[in-house]
Amino acid sequence: MKPLILIIEDNEQNLYLATFILEKSGYAVIASRSGPEGIALAGQQRPALILLDIQLPEMDGYQVARQLTSEPATAAIPIVAVTSYAMVGDKEKALASGCTGYIEKPINPETFVREIEKHLPGIAAAPGAH
Ligand code: MN
Repeated sequence: MKPLILIIEDNEQNLYLATFILEKSGYAVIASRSGPEGIALAGQQRPALILLDIQLPEMDGYQVARQLTSEPATAAIPIVAVTSYAMVGDKEKALASGCTGYIEKPINPETFVREIEKHLPGIAAAPGAH
């Protein structure tokens, strides 16, 4: 079975690109355009990994990550934050909120899958490899 990845992203172009690249690389993808819906989907579907936009309506990605990691059903799922913020401290803020990794927009199709796979259990590189 293909690993399932949940993308929580409100920007259609980013969602389209990320979905396209992941499906082409053999992953199954489900998507949500808001934090609350994404949290519900994560609990129901238990994806192998969550790709989380930080700039979202209603709840921002930091809040979403905190809630996902505080609920037993979703606490163990790796979360990779995706943000266009280029500010110092954003990476630390994402990690402090419970994200396991961080990717900056714009998505680079050449490195995107490799970046994500660092955080996928069973596919991840050996500890210390990155
Ligand atoms: Mn956004």
